[in-house]
Amino acid sequence: MDDTIRARVRLWLRAEQALGAGRFVHAGRRNASGVGAAEGGAAGARAPAEHAAPPPARAASSAPQAPTLFAAAEGDLAAPAYSRQEKIALLAELDAKHVKPCRKCVLCQQRRTTVFGEGDVDAALFFIGEGPGEEEDRTGRPFVGRAGKKLDEMIAAMGLRREQVYIGNVVKCRPPGNRTPEPGEMATCVPYLIRQLEIIRPKVIVLLGATAVRGLLEIPAAVGSLRGQWRTWRGIKVMITYHPAFLVRTPTLEARRAVWSDLQKVMAELGLKNPRAR
Ligand code: SF4
Repeated sequence: MDDTIRARVRLWLRAEQALGAGRFVHAGRRNASGVGAAEGGAAGARAPAEHAAPPPARAASSAPQAPTLFAAAEGDLAAPAYSRQEKIALLAELDAKHVKPCRKCVLCQQRRTTVFGEGDVDAALFFIGEGPGEEEDRTGRPFVGRAGKKLDEMIAAMGLRREQVYIGNVVKCRPPGNRTPEPGEMATCVPYLIRQLEIIRPKVIVLLGATAVRGLLEIPAAVGSLRGQWRTWRGIKVMITYHPAFLVRTPTLEARRAVWSDLQKVMAELGLKNPRAR
């Protein structure tokens, strides 16, 4: 890591210390509403009071460069395009200093480890699922169980390898018994995901399943009624499709065709050729 990157990371951390974790969370949640009223659904209605309150005043001069870094969290396409090395450093800091020690919601109580996410920091495509399952909780890696194998198949069908995309979840700790995360748990955790998105800046986000849709876009609707249509989140195109676990449980021709149709739209957007047509 060169001195410039070290300096930027130090500034980012100093800014966060100066502004406080609350500031970090508020910025993230306001971003989530950037999907617009039509897509926002119940935005705010289920957010805890701490997120509904206006953000605290920015701390004073002790962090002169903080506005630049945090302004990135407030505009559609205003996020700075970090270099690969900066992305690696920022994501590592986010994981080590914030996610790993996080005890902000009850999901910390039964986790074995946090599951930050993984993949290419320069990925054009970012898959977002619900949260870690048993296998992910054991290994610290996202999508490594049966659903993970199905996701690998989906990625391969697009002509890509897992290492070429980025994979994350709405919550970083396993909900006990693989239950669905509660709205408050998602609201508490999703700022970490938002920060990952700000750093990586993919061209396309694929939301896998209803919980991912609720977590990022705050739309409380069934995937069947949302999938296959483009949406935007802070200027990034978003495709909604079924969670791979659904395909494992319900491997019908109809479900597989629906997912493949959604993935083909993503491939067209990214300029990927259909490997099946070669
Ligand atoms: S789920 Fe997220 S907010 Fe809750 S303890 Fe884990 S990392 Fe923290």
